[in-house]
Amino acid sequence: ELAYGEAARHTERSVVYSAENEPVLVPYELLRDAITGNQLEVYLQPILDLRQHRLTGAEALSRWHDPQLGQVSPDNFIGLAEDTGLISDLTRWNLNASLRHLARARRQVPDMNLSVNLSPRMFAERDIAVQIASALDVWDASPEAVTLEVTENALMEDPALSLRLLTSLRDRGFGISIDDFGSGYSSLAYLKQFPATELKIDRSFVMDMQSDARSVQLVRSMIDLGHHLQMHVVAEGVEDATTLELLTRMGCDRAQGYHIRRPQPAADFVASLEPQNR
Ligand code: C2E
Ligand code: MG
Ligand code: MG
Ligand code: MG
Repeated sequence: ELAYGEAARHTERSVVYSAENEPVLVPYELLRDAITGNQLEVYLQPILDLRQHRLTGAEALSRWHDPQLGQVSPDNFIGLAEDTGLISDLTRWNLNASLRHLARARRQVPDMNLSVNLSPRMFAERDIAVQIASALDVWDASPEAVTLEVTENALMEDPALSLRLLTSLRDRGFGISIDDFGSGYSSLAYLKQFPATELKIDRSFVMDMQSDARSVQLVRSMIDLGHHLQMHVVAEGVEDATTLELLTRMGCDRAQGYHIRRPQPAADFVASLEPQNR
């Protein structure tokens, strides 16, 4: 048995599970061609503002439709993209595709925010902040409307580099979110330094809230921690009404999860928005 990372590094192939749950080795070229050949699609998952009780954001999640493999989950191809250097192309593609939908969404909801996932593997690339910023020019989007998500573990791969890049992105006006918070191994010393505007609590804690009192207490502590560091706090993985109610009462700012809505094709998300005048 090959561990997933091993397979990708040595042969530039990744193990992907087909619709029949059979492991399939996917070569680098297949993913490369999918990125250039329009086989990727942006899904958007709404983010609910718990104070205003309305949708004020959405997270862009990549989907890969392969004729043979069916729909491939990002958990199966982000790693391959990272190990083979395709991740920058993928991210550029995702950013461009989702910004187009943000522009449309903002016609209905003027303060709509877009969250995009960044991989640390692209941090070392030259002018990455400039590249991200110039993608926005094309769609006349302001950095204030975009939140860049980086997982806690990603930040810790090279904390000094992450700090430099995120500071430069924050200086340009982007929101910065620490994704999957609590599941990784960041130290509080670094948390204090990162210029993050948002803390996104990992879904493993949120999904357990309904059945486990200790998870509720942990989430409560993470909400307080984020607020004490002047960050907005988002809970991901909200799967039931009880959890949503608890989060609202505990002062969590925003929520995302299947109970609110599943990720959906970006155009469907935009079409579902009610016009708001504010
Ligand atoms: P993430 O950024 O933490 O995104 C949230 C993931 O949780 C998504 O999985 C979403 O579909 C899933 N999710 C949302 N609500 C619920 C819920 O209530 N219950 C459960 N069980 N899951 C929920 P998805 O779309 O499969 O993406 C997986 C990961 O792949 C993402 O995790 C993100 O780290 C990465 N990813 C996706 N698209 C991109 C991309 O374009 N670029 C990069 N660098 N990473 C991406
Ligand atoms: Mg994310
Ligand atoms: Mg997450
Ligand atoms: Mg995740």
